[in-house]
Amino acid sequence: MTRWDEKQARLRAFLTRGAVGDLTVALLRSLAKMSPCIFCKIIQGESPGAILYRDEQATAFHDAHPAAPVHILIVPNRHIVSVNELEPGDEPLIGRLFSVARQLAQQEGIQESGYRLIVNTGAHGGQTVPHLHLHLIGGQRMRHPMG
Ligand code: AMP
Ligand code: ZN
Repeated sequence: MTRWDEKQARLRAFLTRGAVGDLTVALLRSLAKMSPCIFCKIIQGESPGAILYRDEQATAFHDAHPAAPVHILIVPNRHIVSVNELEPGDEPLIGRLFSVARQLAQQEGIQESGYRLIVNTGAHGGQTVPHLHLHLIGGQRMRHPMG
């Protein structure tokens, strides 16, 4: 173990044990609350993102790392973490997300060729951004099987 590793280990022990540990966790939690999610920032126009569609309930923008020629994310304007946080009153909102996907598929010229709609949920679902989003992916034949 190098001197640097030793210093790091001592610092980690200091920050994670006892009262200081509790304080560290509280601090990290409040920092997480203060930093708005990246999709909320895009919806609010605070972060650059090519907005393709916006209404009072939903926004759509290009995925930053497209998996296919067309890769659009359709998101509720309200910060909803995932499908797990949906409530019965959100059913019209979910319908809206699908309607926007259909409109954008037509606009992008992939309605007839076909496309895939995906909603990843939680760790096993492969969700990396904790703001509910519907992927609209098309423009090529899908190669990846499910699962
Ligand atoms: P998921 O893995 O289902 O949570 O999908 C998150 C998607 O968000 C990924 O396809 C990312 O490429 C995409 N993404 C992450 N950050 C941004 C961003 N700032 N703008 C647009 N798309 C993003
Ligand atoms: Zn959000």
